[in-house]
Amino acid sequence: MRLSAYFLPTLKETPAEAQIASHRLMLRAGMIRQSAAGIYSWLPLGLRVLDKVADIVREEQDRAGAQEILMPTIQPAEVWKESGRYDDYGKEMLRIKDRHDREMLYGPTNEELVTVLFRDAVKSYKALPQILYHIQWKFRDEVRPRFGVMRGREFLMKDAYSFDLDPAAARRSYNRMFMAYMRTYARMGLKAIPMKADTGPIGGDLSHEFHVLAETGESEVFVHKDFINMDWSQRDIDYSSDLQPMVDELTGKYAVTDEKRDLEHEKTLGDNLVSARGIEVGHIFYFGTKYSKAMNAVVNSPNGDVTVEMGSYGIGVSRLVGALIEAYHDDAGIKWPEAVAPFRVGLISLKKGDAACDEACEKLYKAFGREVLYDDRDERAGVKFADMDLIGLPWQMVVGPKGVAAGVVELKNRMTGEKSELSFEEALKRFAE
Ligand code: ATP
Ligand code: MG
Repeated sequence: MRLSAYFLPTLKETPAEAQIASHRLMLRAGMIRQSAAGIYSWLPLGLRVLDKVADIVREEQDRAGAQEILMPTIQPAEVWKESGRYDDYGKEMLRIKDRHDREMLYGPTNEELVTVLFRDAVKSYKALPQILYHIQWKFRDEVRPRFGVMRGREFLMKDAYSFDLDPAAARRSYNRMFMAYMRTYARMGLKAIPMKADTGPIGGDLSHEFHVLAETGESEVFVHKDFINMDWSQRDIDYSSDLQPMVDELTGKYAVTDEKRDLEHEKTLGDNLVSARGIEVGHIFYFGTKYSKAMNAVVNSPNGDVTVEMGSYGIGVSRLVGALIEAYHDDAGIKWPEAVAPFRVGLISLKKGDAACDEACEKLYKAFGREVLYDDRDERAGVKFADMDLIGLPWQMVVGPKGVAAGVVELKNRMTGEKSELSFEEALKRFAE
């Protein structure tokens, strides 16, 4: 993409409404714009990141054996009356009437709809287990939408639902998702700590939230210090097996959300206990037959009819974009990890209009394909460097007339700040598609 033609409305000034770095930087880098409180448009740069995050989530769900579907955003009220949640859900649910006065709603979550899909289609135990997921916009009329995409009203979530014949099988599905989550976050360069969590209004007895630690996190969490020092990326877990119990290292150490504190146990931890703030980027539940019972999701089996065991597994896809920036930024702007960067490399021409410089840039631009953003504007170098630092592409390739004459370009690593010189031939190969 050529920056001269790209829809990238960056801002020089810090927007007054933005209280935290990720919100500020997403506005300044031209990734999002607010359309109403907690409701955002995603502009080209932001959407590229959102899509990359969603793709990683999707790949790991698929790898874990979950199957992608797409349920609608608008749901009929009836199914929520069937489960008994229509009244309980309260003001967070956006209730709508259609032209025939039928009660509808904008889905805040999809347990009901997916249970209907399952019960209408599956009659035999032989079809189990099943895990279905989708990546779809949700609406929750939050009391205090804030921090940009971190706590929106409309937000993108991956939600998966498992259906099993008995509690032991349901736990295997739970473990499988647990492992998929660890992998998903690690691939994005995030250290997300699994914490024992309250099961809340959804009910059930087994639940973990995944938190990225950050000063700006909304949740208070309590963790064993070892968790903080652990290097996730080097971990060697056999993700392929659903029979593998959740690894002791991950669940054997103390890590809890506020609601699940065990004060007696905390006393024994002494200095090893750390209280921190966390951003909840995922939440998994095993809730048994809560919905299947109320909604009659039953399969036949050699031992008679069985009400299926269910779990649900959410990832905050749009919130993750904010969480990534909270984890990776400096005073100059964002520092994207490569796996989720909107473009891998920013190509900076120091002298637009200089024939040799233009020619070198065009060659590099063509070789790099979809993963390059070429700053071909007729702007001062300082402006270009500042914009590149702001939008945070992992690599900056700087091409100037002097370098071109000497057959070299400069490469800067945005994460580390390291600079190096490459021959033009090396440069061509470095990011070739
Ligand atoms: P929270 O405690 O932050 O309100 P929740 O427990 O209500 O979240 P879940 O129902 O567990 O959320 O939803 C699954 C995931 O969706 C959460 O872990 C979070 O990452 C994301 N999420 C939930 N609410 C929002 C929101 N208002 N804006 C952005 N992402 C959200
Ligand atoms: Mg939650």
